[in-house]
Amino acid sequence: MKVLIAASEAYPFAKTGGLADVTGALKNALRGLGADARLIIPYYRTVRENFWRKTVFTGAEVRVPVGNRVFNARFHAYGVDTLFVQCDELFDRPELYGEKDADYKDNDFRYTFFSKAVLAAILTLDFVPDVIHCHDWQTGLIPLYVKTEYAKCFPNVATLMTIHNLGYHGNFPPSAISITGAGYEHFNPDGIEFYGEVSFLKAGIVYSTAINTVSENYAREILTREFGHGFDGILKKRLADLRGIVNGIDYEVWNPAADPNIPACYSAGDMSGKRECKKALAVECGFKDSGRPIVSMVSRLSDQKGIDLLLSSAERIIGDGVNMVVLGRGDEKYASAFKHLETTSHGHFRFSPKHDECSAHRIFAGSDITLMPSRYEPCGLTQMIAMRYGTIPVGRHTGGLVDTIMDYKPMSGEGSGFLFTDATPAALRECILRALCVYESQGRWAEMISAAMRRDFTWETSAKRYISLFKSIMRKGRRP
Ligand code: ADP
Repeated sequence: MKVLIAASEAYPFAKTGGLADVTGALKNALRGLGADARLIIPYYRTVRENFWRKTVFTGAEVRVPVGNRVFNARFHAYGVDTLFVQCDELFDRPELYGEKDADYKDNDFRYTFFSKAVLAAILTLDFVPDVIHCHDWQTGLIPLYVKTEYAKCFPNVATLMTIHNLGYHGNFPPSAISITGAGYEHFNPDGIEFYGEVSFLKAGIVYSTAINTVSENYAREILTREFGHGFDGILKKRLADLRGIVNGIDYEVWNPAADPNIPACYSAGDMSGKRECKKALAVECGFKDSGRPIVSMVSRLSDQKGIDLLLSSAERIIGDGVNMVVLGRGDEKYASAFKHLETTSHGHFRFSPKHDECSAHRIFAGSDITLMPSRYEPCGLTQMIAMRYGTIPVGRHTGGLVDTIMDYKPMSGEGSGFLFTDATPAALRECILRALCVYESQGRWAEMISAAMRRDFTWETSAKRYISLFKSIMRKGRRP
């Protein structure tokens, strides 16, 4: 089976969030199961700066028309299974999608170009996949092109559209229709029109062979008005082709027993290293009363993540006797509120306003509790990473958090985290207090940590489910 994963980011090359973790790890997991899976992403500045030594120009270069302009796409290979699409005018920039709270104004050009370049790569580089696996709005036009402009080139190629986050639509003004080259016959409610705009995500939903999202619970939630972001109607129409497959995490990258980023390694059998990590984190953060439990949050700073719930309750939570560290980049309004909190928290709160992989590892290893008060959460990797590091997640009862966190049951002692339902600061604080109660009883806490660390979040099970989904849509793709 040949699978081409087309995505706008993939770990370790370029990452802003969980999408990158998923595309990077899924490619490896599929290959581990015998599939010929390959990955294609843009050649961003960060890719050039960090990976150019191991990157080889394939010699293939094509002209890609986008709207009334033509761009050059140069294809670079990294090992046998990864391709980068170079177009410096569009991708040689400091960030992936935008700067200073604003998207790049030409994102419609950038990802139309990328989607067309992916199809040009297939034609040029002699790797015709059975399935093109598309991820989020940035690659939403690919299924449209496979059904229209490229239908004759790829009659047997199926497309799977994976929705990692329905909140990001890739919406552009109607004039973007001429940039995509899709033709006005597709600009209607059954095509890529979304309330008067052009939606790249909708193109993926409407024209793909099948759709999936990243947890079973989120696959159910997105059919409702509350979580459907306006797409619930169109998703209901495609119900027969909609699946939910929960993500895994990469056990090589996230492994407390052999993690080069943390001060001391540890495992469920010997937790002394975690105590070292906690001490080191308390020193790094300059915490007063370093014996206090450490509560952490590692997150994009966006409305989705329930940052407002934390900000409204943080002073009280700190007053309940914890030290708190937040590592996050994103919305400036949240960043400045956290900066302010740091100045008033008397050494019990530290904010790190950046995206920093190594620091994320140190925080997961060194803290006791990690927060995910998300308003919605398609899957969430953070809670799984935390459990792997023996850090107990406190999360909202939504999306993939429901599928992956077993809420603690005091009578039986079962559970690997704590869930709360109401999206209110009070409910978040109450849930943290529940966790702190168990923390105080060290025996029960140790059992809980051990249960959390034993949970299986490897990619293998999910990758097997992807393979059977690919097989089913390959059959469909070949139907007359
Ligand atoms: P999302 O994809 O919505 O951002 P997930 O929980 O699925 O959320 O995945 C987030 C990933 O990004 C995790 O690997 C997490 O550790 C990482 N991450 C988020 N914010 C930061 C940050 N500021 N620095 C380093 N890693 C981060």
